[in-house]
Amino acid sequence: MSRPLSDQERRKQISVRGLAGAENVSELKKGFNRHLHFTLVKDRNVAATRDYYFALAHTVRDHLVGRWLRTQQYYYEKDPKRIYYLSLEFYMGRTLQNTMVNLGLQSACDEATYQLGLDMEELQEVEEDAGLGNGGLGRLAACFLDSMASLGLAAYGYGIRYEFGIFNQKIAGGWQVEEADDWLRYGNPWEKARPEYMIPVHFYGRVEHAPDGAKWADTQVVLALPYDTPVPGYRNNTVNTMRLWSARAPNEFNLKDFNVGGYIQAVLDRNLAENISRVLYPNDNFFEGKELRLKQEYFVVAATLNDIIRRFKSSKFGSRDPVRTSFDAFPDKVAIQLNDTHPSLAIPELMRILVDEEKLSWDKAWDVTVRTCAYTNHTVLPEALERWPVHLLETLLPRHLEIIYEINQRFLDRVYATFPGEHDRLRRMSLVEEGAVKRINMAHLCIVGSHAVNGVARIHSDILKKTVFKDFYELEPQKFQNKTNGITPRRWLVLCNPGLAEVIAERIGEEYVADLDQLRQLLNFVDDDGFIRDVAKVKQENKLKFAAFLEKEHKVKINPSSLFDVQVKRIHEYKRQLLNCLHVVTLYNRIKKEPNKPFVPRTVMIGGKAAPGYHMAKMIIKLITSIGDVVNHDPVVGDRLKVLFLENYRVSLAEKVIPAADLSEQISTAGTEASGTGNMKFMLNGALTIGTMDGANVEMAEEAGEENLFIFGMRVEDVEALDRKGYCARDYYEQLPELKQVIDQLNSGFFSPRQPDLFRDIVNMLMNHDRFKVFADYEAYVQCQEKVSALYKDTREWTRKVIRNIAASGKFSSDRTIAQYAREIWGAEPTRQRIPAPDEPRE
Ligand SMILES: *Cc1c(COP(=O)(O)O)cnc(C)c1O
Repeated sequence: MSRPLSDQERRKQISVRGLAGAENVSELKKGFNRHLHFTLVKDRNVAATRDYYFALAHTVRDHLVGRWLRTQQYYYEKDPKRIYYLSLEFYMGRTLQNTMVNLGLQSACDEATYQLGLDMEELQEVEEDAGLGNGGLGRLAACFLDSMASLGLAAYGYGIRYEFGIFNQKIAGGWQVEEADDWLRYGNPWEKARPEYMIPVHFYGRVEHAPDGAKWADTQVVLALPYDTPVPGYRNNTVNTMRLWSARAPNEFNLKDFNVGGYIQAVLDRNLAENISRVLYPNDNFFEGKELRLKQEYFVVAATLNDIIRRFKSSKFGSRDPVRTSFDAFPDKVAIQLNDTHPSLAIPELMRILVDEEKLSWDKAWDVTVRTCAYTNHTVLPEALERWPVHLLETLLPRHLEIIYEINQRFLDRVYATFPGEHDRLRRMSLVEEGAVKRINMAHLCIVGSHAVNGVARIHSDILKKTVFKDFYELEPQKFQNKTNGITPRRWLVLCNPGLAEVIAERIGEEYVADLDQLRQLLNFVDDDGFIRDVAKVKQENKLKFAAFLEKEHKVKINPSSLFDVQVKRIHEYKRQLLNCLHVVTLYNRIKKEPNKPFVPRTVMIGGKAAPGYHMAKMIIKLITSIGDVVNHDPVVGDRLKVLFLENYRVSLAEKVIPAADLSEQISTAGTEASGTGNMKFMLNGALTIGTMDGANVEMAEEAGEENLFIFGMRVEDVEALDRKGYCARDYYEQLPELKQVIDQLNSGFFSPRQPDLFRDIVNMLMNHDRFKVFADYEAYVQCQEKVSALYKDTREWTRKVIRNIAASGKFSSDRTIAQYAREIWGAEPTRQRIPAPDEPRE
């Protein structure tokens, strides 16, 4: 085995990384030295790696500024339809390398840092992840920003600038420990604060009804301070804006009637207001009805809508005269996409502005609102659906509650007119749920207040129409759409897997990066021994590099010729990390039973964060680490089987582990994973998928051919049939001896000898109330894994399947997803048009 190339060496050969012209390189070096001196105020005697990172970040940022200003100027001049993507999460990860990729500056920066005697990779590792998201939903928003800019859409991401993002996960004694993510500690070179555009956001108070309309009075004000981050498109000179709001207390906060002593307390109390943007709620697919979270949701919505309407009114073509501003054109100029129900208050807030402030009639305002808003649903799990208690809304947002009631009244009148006499339908479809606590169903609000409702993979969109939103589909079938998720090939191939990006470019050129369907051309090379060898070689290099990372950072040695079997995603019962565990222990028992039988070596890696309040998820982590403690130290096993828990899974770790994976675990219970996007990242990076017919796996199998994935287990219809029959875990336990052995081991303390009852909760759940039917798929899963191992022995055939998967992954570019949103929901036309660069003449 030859030594793997360092990234620095590899990049020099790479065409997809831009050209390292001598002039460019010397300009970059000058910029770097200038920033080290003037921005960092250091010289090379005292500068540390972090200083060099910041100097480089500022140098690269300088290349964005002109394009950013030009793009915004261009939007003002041309006044295209603006697309607003509202999300409580933007899981951006690192920005430096992404900026270099999209600006085509990678080779030049590599050469510049090389000439300066610095290690580019070491600099990049200094950057903190912008972890303003939990998992797939937040990462989707980040991929969409990249694609919207790359397709030349006049788009904006709007969210919250959390002071603390998703917690850092430490593992201590096998348990998850959470640490605060103080990502802004050393400053953020990618953001620009805009205090001059601060916006007041109102809370609490009461509603006054007068002849000229309703007035929301006696409110408490919190200021929303915008921070702008540039979002460069892929080599098209477009730079869009992500605007994140930070909460600031007004200077007179609590100072109205202070007395001596009250002043100090009043200043201290500013924290109360500023807590709104303090921390990201760390739940994935789970609704926690906390007042602070509701404040966050309204805060981002109110500040954003204020901004949207200000921009609409100041448009070159619109009237600046408030009396004459017509909102007729609003839906033609503005599209608002709601990323889940989290920003659903945009609907009553837009109504409030139009009716109470702009004095539109209810009917006119409602028409404008519905034509402007669209809603994306991300899950069918009932525990994830937002249902806010009325009593919270009543105190925090009294006028919005009134508006929601009015929307509901008019809506139910319509339902009743369409389905006369169907009283239960009214109850089912009401925005207001009666019960011990009265609640507002935010998904219902979104469906009623939007012109388009979409699921995120075909199977998921079908389930929405057939089950969760069936009544709504029957009323307004034309609203329901599908938009299968995607990922950006810039970050998830060019950035994270330069070796693979290059061997592909050597065969089909580099246009595929902006037009991923072109990967189909790789089918011409499935029998090409040179290409097969190149693809296998890149994978082996990535595996060696990841093994070196694990050894350096985590002091664990793994067998780099073993099959890398990877499951990385949030820890959740529905994602069934427990099924993976049962398989690992089954393999362990088989080795112990017949130690001399041939065995295909495996390294099973599982990573992901558990929500801090999710007991079962935390127990699952402890189980994985406990299985590792036994398996990894058993001399009979040796290096044939290892089980690792990958600590602190996040975007920057995904970029390392996914290119090194042979096998991608996508094993949720059919019908529970709306789409998944991790599955797509693995497919694009040359891993084979073992998965259920769930989420986007269904379409991946369709694109690649089912024979090129390892599909196993129950389909949605089988799960439904089993539900009707009644799922009995004990039946499987008694009929499958290997399953019984594993469960008995968990139950007897085999993996927790010092605390034999440690995993009884897990066993009890699996045996008696497992909503996700782990045992029902156990046998099919284990058999399917046998096929995986058998194929892995044949590197050539394995790699040919890998190539067929890569060739079929074009559909899963977020460019395709965004083009569909643009045409089918937003009424905007995507282009790959380049706008003039700062050093080019204007048209
Ligand atoms: C892509 C991604 C996810 C989503 O993974 P799924 O397997 O689709 O749940 C979660 N976290 C990170 C860091 C990701 O990059």
